[in-house]
This record gives sequence, structure tokens and C-alpha cells, in this order.
Amino acid sequence: MSTRAFQHDAQVLRREQLSSHLVRLELAVDGFESTGVPDEWVGLVVPDQFQSRYYTVRSHGAGRLVLDVVVHEHGLVTEWAARDVVGDRVTVTEPKGSFAPPPAAQWLLLVGDLTAMPAMARIVEETGLPTRVWAEVPDDLPHYLPARADVTWLVPPGEGRSALAAAVEGIEWPAGEGYFWMAGESAQMRAIRKHLMRERRLPSSAYDVMGYWRGGAARQPRAVDPGPVWRASPDDPGPARQRPGDHPARDQS
Ligand SMILES: Cc1cc2nc3c(=O)[nH]c(=O)nc-3n(C[C@H](O)[C@H](O)[C@H](O)COP(=O)(O)OP(=O)(O)OC[C@H]3O[C@@H](n4cnc5c(N)ncnc54)[C@H](O)[C@@H]3O)c2cc1C
Repeated sequence: MSTRAFQHDAQVLRREQLSSHLVRLELAVDGFESTGVPDEWVGLVVPDQFQSRYYTVRSHGAGRLVLDVVVHEHGLVTEWAARDVVGDRVTVTEPKGSFAPPPAAQWLLLVGDLTAMPAMARIVEETGLPTRVWAEVPDDLPHYLPARADVTWLVPPGEGRSALAAAVEGIEWPAGEGYFWMAGESAQMRAIRKHLMRERRLPSSAYDVMGYWRGGAARQPRAVDPGPVWRASPDDPGPARQRPGDHPARDQS
């Protein structure tokens, strides 16, 4: 079977700026079949590029696919999505999913940064289990997660940085069998996998921890640097949320 069979041509129908760093894209796509797994993702190839980047399927139906794209400092998709992309033709790959709670799970803990928000929103929408969420986001997104979610909002320690590992070490774990799902910056995810294996001694079936992006080494900005891509968007006021120093455990970043 050719690789082509695993790809769909799509067109951007609508672009909506949800917040300073988050853009919603609605795509028209033929023949897309969901896996039914709520954290499913597709590879996205934007015009004049051949490399793909992964994006969660926030929602889908009747030839439509919705992706919520983080607009960060610089990057292949981020720079494309920051522009008026309506009408652009893109390619999406077949979806894959990973979220797989054990049948006996009585609760869910979800932890993630802005890139994980689409998956966490869809998981909360689709699960019947009591769910707690820790969301580390730079923008105020009070209505992004379904109202039934019990959410702790955290502020990232800086642009393109995350302190989620420290936050997780301070979580009070519920009793009984459950499922822990987490996604975000890769170094934070590696630290958490160690914590879950060594401190919590969880079997691998009890959690799913995925590195969604790789943080680079911080560089001092220079006066000649262009501003970050996301700053071209209208600013939103900072929310009243937990600050990094308020993380329940030591900041490891
Ligand atoms: C399974 C899966 C699902 C994902 N779902 C989503 C989703 O729904 N929405 C979403 O926005 N992202 C999602 N991601 C993350 C996304 O694929 C990466 O952030 C990707 O690198 C962005 O591509 P880019 O072309 O914008 O930047 P790149 O060209 O890949 O990277 C350019 C530079 O930016 C840095 N960078 C990359 N991402 C970020 C970031 N988020 N914040 C700060 N710096 C960054 C890189 O380290 C690099 O230095 C998902 C990833 C995976 C693996």
C-alpha cells in the first residue's frame, strides 16, 4: 500500500484566535476516520513543507477536522498558523491514539501544558470518570475545558518553559485504581516517568506520559531580534492563577 493511502488532502476553512498563543483551525477533509481514542493526533504538513508536525484532533465530524495550534516563539507550523491561512491546502496523516485507561480505573488525573489542552479537553468530554486536571498555560482559557473538569491552573515559569514535573511531585494521589495521563515538554515528561516508576511504583498500564515538544536552551534576546510570532496577536490579560513559585513542590526546571 502506498504511503499516499495514509494521507488526506485538506483545506483550511476557518481560523480563530482563541488566545495570544492558541489558534483554532477548522479543516475540510475527505475520508477521515477517527480512531475514537480521545487523545488521537494527526501529522500535519503545511504548504511548501515536507516535514510534518503532530496535532491533536480537538474535534471532528462530517468532513471537518478541528486542530488547536500553539503559536510559540518560532517554528515551521507556528509561523504558518500565525498568518491568515484560510484557503491554504495542507496534508494530514491517519490518526493515532494512546489514551488507554485500565477497565477498572475509578478516576483520571490529567496534566499538561498548552499543547496538551486539546487532548485534555477531549478526554474530559468523553470520559465518565471523576477527573482532575492540572493545566500549565500562559493564557487565560477559562472556558476551554468542559465545566465538569476540576482544574488547577498553573502559569509556566517563562516563555517556552515548563515546570510540570515539580507540580506532579506535589499531587495528592487518590486512593484506588486510576489512570494518569500527561503530555508536554519532553524533559519534564522524562522526569515524571522516573517519578512514577521509582517513587510511585506504578505499573506502566496505570499511566501514559508523552513528550509533545522539546524545549531548547534559553538564549538572551537581542535588540535586533524580531518579536516572537505569538506577540503579533492581540494580547489577553493575565489570569488569576497559581504562579510557578506556588507549585506544590520544588521547581525542577
Ligand atoms: C502526539 C502529539 C500531539 C500534539 N498535539 C498538539 C496540539 O494539539 N497542539 C499543539 O500546538 N501542539 C501539539 N503537539 C506539539 C507540536 O507537535 C510541537 O510543539 C511541534 O514541535 C510544533 O511545531 P512547530 O513547527 O511550530 O515548531 P518546530 O519547528 O517543531 O520547533 C521550532 C522550535 O520551537 C520549539 N518548540 C516547539 N514546540 C514548542 C512549544 N509548544 N512551545 C515552545 N517551544 C516550542 C522547538 O524546541 C524548536 O526549538 C503535539 C505533539 C505530539 C507528539
